[in-house]
Amino acid sequence: MRIAIIGAGIVGATAAYQLSKNSEVELVVYDDGLGQATKAAAGIICPWLSQRRNKDWYRLTARGASYYPELMAQLEADGVTQLPYEQVGALVFKKTPELLEKLEKIAADRRKEEPRIGELTKIEVEDISSYVPGWNGTHGAIHCSGGGRVDGKLLVEQQLYLAQQNGASIKQEKVNLTRDEEGKVVVKTTSGLEEFDKIIVASGAWVKELIEPLGYYVDVRPQKGQLIELELQTTEATDDWPVCMLHGEIDILPFEDGKIIVGATHENDQGFDLTDNQELQQKMYEEACEVFPPLKEAKWLGSRIGTRAYTSDFLPFFGNIPGEETLFVASGLGSSGLTSGVWIGALLAQLSAGDTPLFNVDSYTPGNYIQKII
Ligand SMILES: Cc1cc2nc3c(=O)[nH]c(=O)nc-3n(C[C@H](O)[C@H](O)[C@H](O)COP(=O)(O)OP(=O)(O)OC[C@H]3O[C@@H](n4cnc5c(N)ncnc54)[C@H](O)[C@@H]3O)c2cc1C
Repeated sequence: MRIAIIGAGIVGATAAYQLSKNSEVELVVYDDGLGQATKAAAGIICPWLSQRRNKDWYRLTARGASYYPELMAQLEADGVTQLPYEQVGALVFKKTPELLEKLEKIAADRRKEEPRIGELTKIEVEDISSYVPGWNGTHGAIHCSGGGRVDGKLLVEQQLYLAQQNGASIKQEKVNLTRDEEGKVVVKTTSGLEEFDKIIVASGAWVKELIEPLGYYVDVRPQKGQLIELELQTTEATDDWPVCMLHGEIDILPFEDGKIIVGATHENDQGFDLTDNQELQQKMYEEACEVFPPLKEAKWLGSRIGTRAYTSDFLPFFGNIPGEETLFVASGLGSSGLTSGVWIGALLAQLSAGDTPLFNVDSYTPGNYIQKII
């Protein structure tokens, strides 16, 4: 069976890695390598303490988070030594002690169903610095030991490398979709039309460009996200510091060797723009310095900018497009797409190969967001 994947962000790369293990599949991955959200993402994997009430969103992101250790075991078995995901724990802050208490109750309830949350511990404000030396915030937090962080760019690279080792062909080019004379959907490449048995469109915020010319309306809009990368002037190992999820818009993520990520913005009026807005970046930096003063001495390494995809009800969609037997799609992953994206990619691999997944996918059908117009 010939399968094409268009887009190699977290969804496309994970689907590629899984499908490449199937010896009956001949796989081609197309990606134009432009500004993908995955490369820009911060990397927080901790959906359990979100106050978002949508059950479908929670079920999907919680499964995504719990899939990370399984995926890491697969990578390790395939020889990867530098794993991109670390379960370092997360500190989740709230504006008031009442809100923190409410969150603690929600999390304790969720833990009954989801043991991957790990231990939940209330941390008083004066004790936060024992987790993140130099912290000077004014709020306590809940520590969630199951929280983690991932380097999205590295995870994509590793999965594509392994897919290639397994025989997949990876092509760096922008492609389009069109119909042949019989009405079958085919991939329009720089060297001509390519026919496949199945096509997976994992093109993130660019899904409209690919699907709409086939006669559909797609309910997805772009959102710009900027974050900044800093390097702490410290000799302390920062590898196992927890991810800090503040109560405002920004989060602070420590990585190895003193690298700290601060972000991100959520800009709904900038389309696909990928340029720096220094004013917004400075604002995030100052906010972060207030709670974590060592950042004032940190070296500014640069910024990362990406485009998230949103649907009008903020739920992702994935699966087969009704009425288009060969066409599979995923988009609308929003600001938690690194968390849900690995599981969505794995499910798309199963669905496109004709397998029935052990996960109810009904709530995420593309038919809710893609309507035929001609
Ligand atoms: C600043 C920022 C911070 C974030 N932080 C987090 C976080 O901490 N935790 C979390 O869970 N999520 C986070 N996210 C969200 C997450 O990054 C995204 O939801 C997720 O990466 C989307 O993955 P994707 O595979 O759907 O799309 P993408 O990663 O955007 O990949 C789509 C790919 O398709 C390619 N493509 C598109 N059209 C074509 C075409 N015609 N031909 C060939 N290739 C094409 C694009 O170039 C791109 O490479 C963040 C996002 C941003 C922007």
